[in-house]
Amino acid sequence: MENHYDLIVIGAGGGGYPAAFRVAKSGRKVLMVDEKGNLGGNCLYEGCVPSKSVREASVIWHQIAGVGFFGMEAQGTQADWSKIRDYKDGVQARRYEQHSKEIAGAANLTFIRGQAHLQDASHVAVDDWDRQSSFTVSASNILIATGSEAENIPIPGFDQTWNHHDLFAWKDTQPAMPEDIVILGGGYIGVESASMLSDLGVKVTVIEMAPAILTGMDQDLVRAVADSLGKRVKIVTGVQVDAITPNSGHQYVVKGHSLADGGSEEFLASRVLAAVGRQPSLPKNLNLDQVGIEYSRHGIVADRRMHTNIPHIYAAGDVNGQSMLFHSAVRMSEIVAQDILLGEAMDDFFNPWEMPTTVFSRPEGLAVGMTREHAAARGIAVTEHTRDMGSEAWAQIAGELEGFIKLVISRSSGRIVGVHGVGVDASALSAAAHMAVRMGLTPAELGRMTFPHPTQFEILDRLARSV
Ligand SMILES: Cc1cc2nc3c(=O)[nH]c(=O)nc-3n(C[C@H](O)[C@H](O)[C@H](O)COP(=O)(O)OP(=O)(O)OC[C@H]3O[C@@H](n4cnc5c(N)ncnc54)[C@H](O)[C@@H]3O)c2cc1C
Repeated sequence: MENHYDLIVIGAGGGGYPAAFRVAKSGRKVLMVDEKGNLGGNCLYEGCVPSKSVREASVIWHQIAGVGFFGMEAQGTQADWSKIRDYKDGVQARRYEQHSKEIAGAANLTFIRGQAHLQDASHVAVDDWDRQSSFTVSASNILIATGSEAENIPIPGFDQTWNHHDLFAWKDTQPAMPEDIVILGGGYIGVESASMLSDLGVKVTVIEMAPAILTGMDQDLVRAVADSLGKRVKIVTGVQVDAITPNSGHQYVVKGHSLADGGSEEFLASRVLAAVGRQPSLPKNLNLDQVGIEYSRHGIVADRRMHTNIPHIYAAGDVNGQSMLFHSAVRMSEIVAQDILLGEAMDDFFNPWEMPTTVFSRPEGLAVGMTREHAAARGIAVTEHTRDMGSEAWAQIAGELEGFIKLVISRSSGRIVGVHGVGVDASALSAAAHMAVRMGLTPAELGRMTFPHPTQFEILDRLARSV
């Protein structure tokens, strides 16, 4: 074991491992420590990958119910949760196996399953769980990428709720789904969970404290998702939950009050799922105070190149609260690697506004860049141009006509500063939308692209040309 490393990475999720691999590949010595003993962090263990696996199963189940549209009949099909769970665990196992090979094949990289604690600005103590030993090493650079954890709310009975761990954790998902469930929180995790569970036959109620679900997203997007999802999920907004109590009938009584008139509200379900948000993971034994690293409840304070107030200590991913998405974490981690390798010559930085956000509900949503409201808050005058998803050949072939896509264009620069939409393939469209916003394209420039026919991507170049 080395005594000194060029880089120590704490946490091997999207915020940690891209930097570790990139810096190690350049010939520098890297130590990476993660409690899970593999790459992928929460995204792979109980987040993006397993949730989208279950979501994929739920969409296929929904499609089977709709095969009549394509002139077919399906008989004898059954959705069996335990088998869906096995399929999900299998996807996770496959990725863990792939990552193990990547770790084994990486030169200059030492990986340890265990916990890391900062000692001072250049020393890290490591508890190695496999060798049952502890040691302290020094580093020229340290990357903190400890991610985030599910938020708790201080109300009676909250400790009896499920969270995403119960739905998606690798080999630790609940063995059965309830007949009915109340989901606390209408953010993207609550909405995606509501959509997939209701497609799998669970009766779902979503309770959101804000006046609408998907707070902060484009108003038309929110309306379109709420209207469509509202046909199969009960969506209650403007209600604050005060207590959760089990009753004698093996159910939970969820009590709350309306924020509009204070009136009491009550809901009954076999289970309650909490999806009330995530908070950066800043455990006491990370020793941020001891080392003097600035942080708040929103995360470790980091600049656009991920430097904390101690410049050779970086914070990337959910832990800095700038954009709590896997691909954002990866991008931040890449920036850390470039900063270490190129120093002042590096001309890249992280811009949360450019990051694509997807809502994997049915229908899907996409958001990149500013909405009209975000722009107004920054004093930017914009115009919006919208096209119906159902006007494209692909939407008609797929039989999914609902939704829209809109370009938000700055009046002064003429550039596309936002793209928002709902409907068929919206999550895939977010990649092209990201390019348009990141590259600061004008509609004329986007309109010169030729996207293949028949795909839903055609909506982007057609809409751009129509502006
Ligand atoms: C249900 C759900 C669905 C999601 N779906 C999506 C999606 O579809 N798309 C998307 O982009 N994002 C999604 N996310 C968000 C995504 O999971 C996170 O943004 C992403 O995992 C952040 O990566 P990270 O590296 O910052 O943190 P994490 O993935 O949380 O990784 C941090 C790692 O650090 C380890 N660690 C913490 N402290 C220590 C320590 N002291 N020593 C050693 N190791 C430590 C942890 O064990 C963990 O493995 C979802 C999240 C959830 C919960």
